[in-house]
Amino acid sequence: MEEEQKEKLFAKREEGWKKVDEKQKQEIMEISDKYMAFLNKSKTEREFIKSAKKLADQNGYTDIINKNELKAGDKVYFINREKSMYLAIIGENDIQEHGMHIIGSHVDSPRLDLKPNPLCEETGMAYFKTHYYGGIKKYQWTTIPLSLHGVIVKTSGEKVEINIGENETDPIFTITDLLPHLAQEQMEKKLKDGIEGENLKLLIGSNPVNDDKIQEKVKLNILKILNQKYGITEADFMSAEIELVPAFNARSLGFDESMVAGYGQDDKVCAYTSLLAMMNLDKVKNTAVCILSDKEEIGSMGNTGMESHMFDFFISEILNKLGINKPNLLDRIFCFSKMLSSDVDAGYDPIYASVSDSLNAGYLGKGIALNKYTGARGKSGASDANAEYVAWVRNVLEKNDIQYQITELGKVDIGGGGTIAYILANKGVDVIDCGVPVLSMHSPYEVTNKYDIYSAYKMYEAFWKE
Ligand code: MN
Ligand code: MN
Repeated sequence: MEEEQKEKLFAKREEGWKKVDEKQKQEIMEISDKYMAFLNKSKTEREFIKSAKKLADQNGYTDIINKNELKAGDKVYFINREKSMYLAIIGENDIQEHGMHIIGSHVDSPRLDLKPNPLCEETGMAYFKTHYYGGIKKYQWTTIPLSLHGVIVKTSGEKVEINIGENETDPIFTITDLLPHLAQEQMEKKLKDGIEGENLKLLIGSNPVNDDKIQEKVKLNILKILNQKYGITEADFMSAEIELVPAFNARSLGFDESMVAGYGQDDKVCAYTSLLAMMNLDKVKNTAVCILSDKEEIGSMGNTGMESHMFDFFISEILNKLGINKPNLLDRIFCFSKMLSSDVDAGYDPIYASVSDSLNAGYLGKGIALNKYTGARGKSGASDANAEYVAWVRNVLEKNDIQYQITELGKVDIGGGGTIAYILANKGVDVIDCGVPVLSMHSPYEVTNKYDIYSAYKMYEAFWKE
């Protein structure tokens, strides 16, 4: 009797894998395999957008710039400076009355960027100096293999693409750390001070040119190699964007292969699952929009970040090409729109249990995590989703039998974080954060659970079908 009551009245949070049958397991593994393959080719925002464009082109999407008019069922995208992208399927319903269903993630991840004058030589060793991007624990980025990705643009406009360290036959690069034998002083420091930002210097060569009259012989040799390979000189680094990312690939994790370990899963796990869901959609009732944004990790500023007006421009282009645009229509449409801010959640780590409230933490393997609010210290800076909207989202999850959990990022006053949610909420959109829980977030090797990846895919699909 009481058991029955408990079953009826208690909120449940179960391990998703328990209920998975063979067919579903196969589907989970297939999605994860596709995800890992995509991730390994798309470690930076530029690479992600390039891969996404390829996928969109294969699936009947057209650049909105090349369209003169739009109608229900049309699939379009807009690429913003090779670093962010918006995609849309025009819905059957009138966008003026029903708004849009938006899913928004980000494709930039924490990393090390080269400084504008990166190249230097010290005692016969050549280095690239770096400036880290986003919130990292600096000690995690030493003594691991790193690869170089990005572009160098010459004053002529010619763009040289760099990707070195990913192929087995490529050389890799690394940042050295002190041997324990001589690290007594370093080991006494606080963890955050153990490795200084200026010491994140990438070792790139040690061979000198054979001419004793020359100063900086190793640097000259490196520049000769770069000139031969890419046709660049040292000055060309001034107009370059080169990122250092871990040179290892995403892999299945655990004897049971239930998890994924890989770099850049924040937030490419949500970016990929939403992109894949959009590729598999055909006709939709409400206009479906997918945002792949840049610069989230450093505050969403700049013309490729979500704070820019580029997204408004894309939606205005849709309204123009539907032939319905008029003053204030954009504002009206935002007010009637719904959004999932698809960004990752901090997973509960039993080794570091003390930072989480176990009742309100996101657990790996228990399904997609909703964050009603993010922020820090008294919800500061949060866009707190309205109860009415949370109920609507819960209903979508429950009627589609998708396992979910409602979570909070850490204990009260322990820390906090943010996503792009507030930016769309400020435009009048109903928004909730909805993504995959991650362990070791922002590290070179983040961990997710394949069941949650699958739940995210299912939810994004279900949301757009609403
Ligand atoms: Mn994120
Ligand atoms: Mn992040």
